[in-house]
Amino acid sequence: MSLRPMVGVFGGTFDPIHYGHLRTVRETAVALALERVIIVPCGMPYHRLNALASATERLDMTRLAVAHDPLFIVDDREIASSDPCYSVCTLAALRREQPGRTFCLIIGQDSFLSMTRWYQWPRLFELGHVVVMSRPGVDGAPDPELWRHARRHSSPETLLMQRSGILFEQRVHPQPMSASEVRQAVSEGRSIAHLVPPEVESYIHEHQLYV
Ligand code: ATP
Repeated sequence: MSLRPMVGVFGGTFDPIHYGHLRTVRETAVALALERVIIVPCGMPYHRLNALASATERLDMTRLAVAHDPLFIVDDREIASSDPCYSVCTLAALRREQPGRTFCLIIGQDSFLSMTRWYQWPRLFELGHVVVMSRPGVDGAPDPELWRHARRHSSPETLLMQRSGILFEQRVHPQPMSASEVRQAVSEGRSIAHLVPPEVESYIHEHQLYV
């Protein structure tokens, strides 16, 4: 039985980070009593090489968004690496570095539906648990192949008792927003104050991103 502290790992392009990320992950962290959440902006997203902001800008904005919040730690390893990075490599490294913890990879429902196309995805369930957050407008069933590697559980206690292998679905208050919406609003000169923290809004304007 594992009663190790649980840590969330939340990866994304964060082009830019927005309240849809921050609120849903916070709600998940509280529901699952996570000790902290490690936010990992991805360096070279193999699925989308055309992030509009640079890696440094995405990292800066992510840091600014959580600077005053002790729940979050920003990990720059994927941005700092010159090789393509995959969630499985990051999770394996974190587990090596912090053997006393149980890791929960947190992803949104849309990412979950394409998960069986990720590099070495079955290993994710050997390295930790996967927590899927609901996302407005996203529905559908995952590839049935997934169930050969993951067991679905609905009680948070089970996550604590085992170190890996569980798929947990976390229903969160709907946050109908996306980074695309933020970029579009900026390009049309509309306010983004309801979509991103003030520090991120100022950074976007100062660096003339997404115009
Ligand atoms: P884009 O609009 O550019 O596709 P995005 O808003 O989906 O970006 P990402 O950085 O790609 O942002 O997302 C990182 C993770 O956060 C993904 O797992 C995604 O599913 C999840 N996520 C993003 N926005 C929400 C939201 N509003 N509700 C729940 N999960 C979300």
